[in-house]
Amino acid sequence: MSKKLIYPFLAASFIFPIAGCQESTKETKTPNEEESQYSSGEWSYKGDTGPENWGDLDPDYAACVDGSEQSPIDIEFSQVTEEDQNIESMKINYDTASFTLVNNGHTVQAKSPSKVNSLVVNENEYELSQFHFHTPSEHQFNGEKYDMELHLVHEDQNSKLAVMGVMLQEGEEHKELSEAWKNLPGSENDNITMDEPIDLQALLPEEQNSFHYNGSLTTPPCTEEVRWIIFEQPMEMSKEQIQGFQQIFPDNHRPVQERNDREILKK
Ligand SMILES: [Zn+2]
Repeated sequence: MSKKLIYPFLAASFIFPIAGCQESTKETKTPNEEESQYSSGEWSYKGDTGPENWGDLDPDYAACVDGSEQSPIDIEFSQVTEEDQNIESMKINYDTASFTLVNNGHTVQAKSPSKVNSLVVNENEYELSQFHFHTPSEHQFNGEKYDMELHLVHEDQNSKLAVMGVMLQEGEEHKELSEAWKNLPGSENDNITMDEPIDLQALLPEEQNSFHYNGSLTTPPCTEEVRWIIFEQPMEMSKEQIQGFQQIFPDNHRPVQERNDREILKK
């Protein structure tokens, strides 16, 4: 290969990350889960750019390997602290909203221009910024994975994140997601605006017992100080729905990380 051919390639790979950084700074001051504008070529879920190597791919990803409060984790029920008083207050203000589905190369993410959906924890309000999916689940209960996991990502005024997780297991069709699943964007950068709004309440389980702990983004740059709330009760999706997602992303989960001395509170 001549130098003439190599040079444009090097130049292109050098320019893209910088352009990406500027764009993400303009939009939001801190990295939002799976919203960083890095191209998918830079990190992935397998091989040289997979989770074991994320920390080496970019100095900004150091927390992926050096962090002490990383996510996801295995939630061992025997190690959970049951809350007997109302130490932590939580209120979910969810309504219906219209969404655009985006394939960002790592997952299918649903974004809405609506600002009315929020989560209030200890009087601090976090606005819903997006939701997305992983397969298999990232968090585990007593060492067991589920077929999929839904993450609803919220951000407060200081750009701190709170993420709610819902486990999804094979069973009945998930009705509220059936319209979205007919429109799943199959290729990177595809985006599809849905005709029908989604009732966000219907994405949450009926029983709202939840596990609370301090963790991180589960994707680079693995930023910590993320408030995690994982519902104990799983919800169901049909085999066809699970397979429909897996045809696009066969495996987009980060393995569980050390819990270290973190407390997991059950509400
Ligand atoms: Zn996620």
